Amino acid sequence: MQLYKNQELKIYNSLTSKKEVFKPINEGYIGMYVCGPTVYSNVHLGNVRTFMSFDMVFRYFKHLGYKVRYVRNITDAGHLENDADEGEDRIAKKARIEQIEPMEVVQMYTVDFHNTLNKFNFLPPSIEPTATGHIIEQIEIIKEILDKGLAYEVNGSVYFDVHKFNKTHNYGKLSGRNLEDLIHNTRTLDGQSDKKNPQDFALWKKAEPQHIMRWPSPWSDGFPGWHLECTAMSTKYLGEQFDIHGGGMDLKFPHHECEIAQAEACNNQSPVNVWMHANMLTLNSQKMAKSTGNNILPNEIFTGKNDKLSKPFSPSVTRFFMMQAHYRSILDFSSVAIEASERGFNKLMDAINTLSKLEVSKNTTNFNISSWKQSCYDAMNDDFNTPILIAELFSAVKFINQVKDEKATISQEDFDILTSTLNVFVFDVLGLQNVSDNDASGSNKLSDTVELLINMRAEARANKDFALSDKIRDELADIGIQLKDGKDGTTFTTN
Ligand code: AMP
Ligand code: ZN
Repeated sequence: MQLYKNQELKIYNSLTSKKEVFKPINEGYIGMYVCGPTVYSNVHLGNVRTFMSFDMVFRYFKHLGYKVRYVRNITDAGHLENDADEGEDRIAKKARIEQIEPMEVVQMYTVDFHNTLNKFNFLPPSIEPTATGHIIEQIEIIKEILDKGLAYEVNGSVYFDVHKFNKTHNYGKLSGRNLEDLIHNTRTLDGQSDKKNPQDFALWKKAEPQHIMRWPSPWSDGFPGWHLECTAMSTKYLGEQFDIHGGGMDLKFPHHECEIAQAEACNNQSPVNVWMHANMLTLNSQKMAKSTGNNILPNEIFTGKNDKLSKPFSPSVTRFFMMQAHYRSILDFSSVAIEASERGFNKLMDAINTLSKLEVSKNTTNFNISSWKQSCYDAMNDDFNTPILIAELFSAVKFINQVKDEKATISQEDFDILTSTLNVFVFDVLGLQNVSDNDASGSNKLSDTVELLINMRAEARANKDFALSDKIRDELADIGIQLKDGKDGTTFTTN
């Protein structure tokens, strides 16, 4: 029997502002769409946090036995500089500055995105569609919205008529805004705009002569509005109505609100049952962002090369740091906070390494394993409460250490349940990795290899080849092996 049949999972739905018992549209199957990155620069740790929250959700669904179609797109056109309908396309701007093709920008940062996510041990989504690969689908949606009378064309551009839509639908229901307030809070049009009202948003924009990312359409050579791609791709791969749509909290408005409006305009029904929003990673209490420079990049965390870091941290320690906060809470990054996470992570891995060497006794177990196991599920079933799950994992750590110190005993049956449950939650659900260097034969191949590299680095330094010695140190740090120079020579740590 599939595990999900025994577990009641509750998810906080941003649309209703309530935790609800989750029931997929088709039993056993889940359709989940998450807004992907705009590939015009390297992802920072804030972006990673949002994608990691949904990687954890995906992992738990899979563990429960659901068949999940997880669609996460790549935004490679249409996202303008100011998130609204004005300014240069972010990718085209980067291409202009770097003097390369926009598709070279897209390729470079898509590869970086994948490499980064691989380092953090992400599972790949089931489908990763691109905006530029779905221009035809986007044009079809615009035609449908025009046919319904909820969009209008001006000078080759097409805009969604928010005011007209709001007469029969509720624009603002996701973000808790209403049109009256929006009218009050947006500045009036400056006479340059083709829009009837400032709240309207672009479905299609006619390209200025210098705008190089352009496609033919019935209205003009131009490009789709940013919100449209997600409606086109989610509908194409998950249907007019699907289970879950996710993204960072900052996408709720206007992006997700506009997605709802577009889909409802076409199909007259709410496209998504559960809207999930992951909260922000901050640095010095300010949102990490590309535009302000207030961010830390994954490579900086792996190498420690950032003034805000006391040392390098491995991908798994970073993942553990993020999983110690609930996905709907703001998490502030600091070197001190992640150092504390590192200590916790090491303690957890030490206990897991100790577990396999524990003496199993014929006596009973001084720990209620089955109730502990259910507590782990209860934590995850309560809107993916990973901090509570981690607290439960530490109850097991305490017990393992007691058995090791012969202050408690464990039976074979409980030992098996404890081992498999820890494996499930630590590695499958949280996605952590144990870089234990002992292989089954007890030999120490990793240590031997790193020792070899340490010796090569010492030789390079003796020859004043600092480029090579730094390269060895940095590339080891990239894969989570940190070298430490002390007065007795160089040692290394992994985690
Ligand atoms: P973008 O590439 O700007 O479209 O962003 C990709 C994803 O990262 C979106 O889901 C954003 O909501 C999310 N994001 C951006 N900044 C942060 C942050 N500081 N913390 C968490 N998520 C973020
Ligand atoms: Zn989106």
